[in-house]
Amino acid sequence: MNDLRELYQEVILDHCKKPRNFHEMDEANRRLEGYNPLCGDKVTVYLQVKDDLVQDVSFQGEGCAISTASASLMTELVKGKSLEEAEVIFRRFQDLVTGKSDGSADMGKLAVFAGVGEFPMRVKCATLPWHTLRAALKQQDEAVTTE
Ligand code: ZN
Repeated sequence: MNDLRELYQEVILDHCKKPRNFHEMDEANRRLEGYNPLCGDKVTVYLQVKDDLVQDVSFQGEGCAISTASASLMTELVKGKSLEEAEVIFRRFQDLVTGKSDGSADMGKLAVFAGVGEFPMRVKCATLPWHTLRAALKQQDEAVTTE
């Protein structure tokens, strides 16, 4: 179990140091900002949605290791997915970090966030990019805040 925890930490650190899809997107047809005042995390999610598919997704922002790694992993996971699939992934992630699921069921890479539920302050960091993504997919135009 300790080995697993170390592995998870490595994955989070790796995504934090080298965030994937970390750039602005000129071709984005949806763009939304999210803010977590508790920690100071700021994220902007860029999306290119066409025919109910997330054709492309990227993000920018400033935040702690957890929020950055979460956003980075999120972009990898939802790219190429349908809006419905993205919603399913969002729910799984939400259940995992809030402790509603134990992370054993088909979580894939998301499992690295299983330990976040132990730190309630960090749950908002981890879910900020996801709430922002979801609001952008629903074509909400008001910035997202975790408060
Ligand atoms: Zn944070």
